[in-house]
Amino acid sequence: MKEPTDNDTVDFREIKELNHSQVSILVVDDEQSILEMLSDFLGEDEGYIVSKAPDGEVALSKMRKQHFDIVLMDIRMPKMDGHTLIKKARQLGIETDFVVMTGYGTIESAVKMMKMGAVDYLTKPFNLEHILFVIEKTTERRRLLETAKQVEYYKKLSRMDGLTGLYNHRFFQQMLESEIERAKRLEHNLSLFIIDIDHFKYYNDSLGHPEGDRALKNLAEIFRSACRKYDVIARYGGEEFSIISPETPQDAAIKLGERIRSKVEEFDFFGEECMPGGKFTISLGLASYPDDASNRIELIEQADQALYQAKEQGRNKLCSISR
Ligand code: GH3
Ligand code: MG
Ligand code: MG
Repeated sequence: MKEPTDNDTVDFREIKELNHSQVSILVVDDEQSILEMLSDFLGEDEGYIVSKAPDGEVALSKMRKQHFDIVLMDIRMPKMDGHTLIKKARQLGIETDFVVMTGYGTIESAVKMMKMGAVDYLTKPFNLEHILFVIEKTTERRRLLETAKQVEYYKKLSRMDGLTGLYNHRFFQQMLESEIERAKRLEHNLSLFIIDIDHFKYYNDSLGHPEGDRALKNLAEIFRSACRKYDVIARYGGEEFSIISPETPQDAAIKLGERIRSKVEEFDFFGEECMPGGKFTISLGLASYPDDASNRIELIEQADQALYQAKEQGRNKLCSISR
């Protein structure tokens, strides 16, 4: 089974991070001549955006204010050395690629730094071609990682409902198909809920569409908190939701459904006093595989039919098709 870990909302900060068009480098060394040389070479000759810092302390304070793609740094420096800089940056969650500069005699410390997460090292005295090679390799590595992150991000986006961060209808259908296949193969049970908000048109008409949207988000949160890790929660349509509960026979599903129903009933929705029953509630239809249906389409029809019964019987209710 796929672990439905993507039910959380997309972090839009991620996408901002992916859009560095130019590579920025922070050079950290206590030797002024090295700072000047690297900044002239990388900045003026090669077109990178270069900043300078004379020790780890100044470097860290710059890194807290600004993002650098690469931090090119000496190991032994006054005030704060390279080891401490890497450690502190990691503690602060600063995301950058460290490249270490070291003398031939102290390669062991460079290795130690790489174990702490530095991506590469350069040896002094410098060979300009080697510097460029390492910077380009680091940039390429970063670019590949970012592309992979972007691909993952858009894949996630295509499965998600934008408003609630739950799975969308398309992904729900795919998951239901594959979960039924799996249940068939392993001779397991599976339960499906279709959930509809009671008198939601009334809520929207009384409080406005934006409040309605806010209630939909609250509901999504309640479903997340009531369900288990393997339940697949989706926004089925406008104000309808569906939950697939793998490996769950009807008795256990009824308990889960009741828990969801009462959590919604107890939640303090904004302005809910205006609703016909004075409360914001949902109705749930439940059907289970293999007891109530033998395939995806049938199972959805049966859960829908149960939902219709719950509405008929007065709403704020869970009905299952077989009892
Ligand atoms: P019932 O108890 O019979 O389900 O009554 P209802 O009013 O919920 O049913 P109806 O199908 O008449 O109304 C559904 C309403 O859901 C109408 C529509 O305005 C609202 N709705 C659907 N999608 C959205 C949405 O994305 N945002 C908001 N705010 N409202 C939505
Ligand atoms: Mg409806
Ligand atoms: Mg409704």
